[in-house]
Amino acid sequence: MYCPFCHATDTKVIDSRLVGEGLQVRRRRECHSCKERFTTFETAELVMPRIIKTNGMREPFNEEKLEAGMQRALEKRPVSIEAIEQSVIRIMSQLRATGEREVKSELIGNLVMEELKLLDKVAYIRFASVYRCFEDLREFGEEIARLEQ
Ligand SMILES: [Zn+2]
Repeated sequence: MYCPFCHATDTKVIDSRLVGEGLQVRRRRECHSCKERFTTFETAELVMPRIIKTNGMREPFNEEKLEAGMQRALEKRPVSIEAIEQSVIRIMSQLRATGEREVKSELIGNLVMEELKLLDKVAYIRFASVYRCFEDLREFGEEIARLEQ
């Protein structure tokens, strides 16, 4: 690809590694002309299932929306952007792995909760308290009790 700084056509890969459990390749590149370095990510472009909302409406899967939702739950928490991105990649691969053309939004919510539980307990509680409403109040209370120990 062209150098994003000087638009020279010749850049070289100086480092390449697998991230996101092998679902993504991260490459460090250097421009031959201006010597600036930059990073590219490569992922397979696979069709994501559509989302069935609770009111029955269908909408296309939106990666930015998913990431924004997780960032909101993780606001002012000690979790890196990279860790959030890796969670998003894992959630997306799990959604594809269902092999379904449409999945309920509830499934995404559950996958997000699983990831948040691993990333940060406070963010998990924040998300669960909004997402689960009063349905799982007992479980919610138990989770808080566990955190207080
Ligand atoms: Zn350049």
